[in-house]
Amino acid sequence: MSQGASDYIKNMIQAFKKLPGIGERSARRLVFHILSQNESYAANLADAIKNAKQNIRLCKNCFNLSGEELCPICKNPLRNHKLLCVVENPEIIYVFEKSGNYNGYYHVLHGLINPLEGITPADIRLKELVHRVENGEFEELILALNPNSNGEATSIYIKKLLSGKDINITALARGIPLGSDLEYVDKDTLSEALNSRKIYA
Ligand SMILES: [Zn+2]
Repeated sequence: MSQGASDYIKNMIQAFKKLPGIGERSARRLVFHILSQNESYAANLADAIKNAKQNIRLCKNCFNLSGEELCPICKNPLRNHKLLCVVENPEIIYVFEKSGNYNGYYHVLHGLINPLEGITPADIRLKELVHRVENGEFEELILALNPNSNGEATSIYIKKLLSGKDINITALARGIPLGSDLEYVDKDTLSEALNSRKIYA
């Protein structure tokens, strides 16, 4: 059975609508834009996604996205071995690195504790975090989690997990508006929140 153009278009729109922040209208615009270009445009786009997905994996140390077993940050011996910054996802690392204001290491949780969605402590990279704290030379762990209830629940849990361990736990200063996403905070605000971080109590 042959498919009409509208079926292909509908499929593409459905796929684009699954992207964060993309509604029906944006999806339609993107799809018609791609279809108006020459064939190599669409092929390059598809290849870029496929290649990235095939070649990027998680750094086995910090769980950042990486092209190799260890990411370039973990492989860099010149960074500050005393600082470990805990983030929800690799995108936050990207934002921090762009701010150029942090030179320690990271740990990506890949999620936050979220009772409503059934995400428990066992579902995120907490065991690995404790292992790194126990085996590293970190003196300070910086909680850089989103200022919402899940971020708060996760921060409290981490503090409890690490109680009795020889490490100071700090959190980003509350210059960041409550309920906002760290991904969208501008780099000056982020640098400020990092510089004026406080002991997490
Ligand atoms: Zn790494």
